[in-house]
Amino acid sequence: MRRKIIAGNWKCNKTRAEAISLLESLLLAPPPPSGRQMVAIPPFPYLEAACTLTAGSHLSIGAQNLWTSDWGAYTGEVSAPMLASLGVRYVVVGHSERRQRFGEDGLILKEKVERALAWGLTPIFCLGERLEERDRGQAFEVVADQLKKGLGGLSAEQLHHLVIAYEPVWAIGTGRNATPEQAQEVHSLLRGLLTAGWGESVAQSLPILYGGSVKPDNVDALMAMPDLDGALVGGASLKADDFLRIAGYREG
Ligand code: PEP
Repeated sequence: MRRKIIAGNWKCNKTRAEAISLLESLLLAPPPPSGRQMVAIPPFPYLEAACTLTAGSHLSIGAQNLWTSDWGAYTGEVSAPMLASLGVRYVVVGHSERRQRFGEDGLILKEKVERALAWGLTPIFCLGERLEERDRGQAFEVVADQLKKGLGGLSAEQLHHLVIAYEPVWAIGTGRNATPEQAQEVHSLLRGLLTAGWGESVAQSLPILYGGSVKPDNVDALMAMPDLDGALVGGASLKADDFLRIAGYREG
């Protein structure tokens, strides 16, 4: 059975005190059922405190981005070895906000995935089509192209340490989630592409998360789909109760 992951991307939100308080609330919950991993992804400045606070707990920490080189003259950047040395376990690569606002494309993203893997971090590789692309009937073509550009040439062994997040851009922060059927259709396509590119073992074990307006009231229907292995959650990860409900804690 594939492992399930519920990851909360806090984006550019929260003061340090608010971040600590949210982490403490998440830590108060008992460990999730086995086979399910809960991940908090705070902004860079809070990662060290987050890793210290959550060490040995059921909550893993991820970063929202990383640079394409390990060391050097790259003012303002944060690299994979830095994140690994803090105890960060996951790193988001290719979020649509980075693709759109910072012009990150396939080659850069592939370098980021490679650096993350080289340092033992699990990349959460994001892909997803824009609304106009879906309306033109190009959703499959777009995600297939993003998958090929971002991951093409990586080995099956590397992909065994990777997570994919399908995040249709039109569903991110809009309150309009993909229907469970729309999400399942793309997840199933992605699994087929993984089989064709890297074999059945990778395709059957690699978790594919859905992201885009996941909330406590729609998560159950989405997660009932056979190829959805968890969620990458933005807005609803900023409130402990909502995030815990999404992660499967009915009482929050
Ligand atoms: C995201 O930013 O990855 C995301 C899915 O955001 P939201 O849940 O707010 O749509």
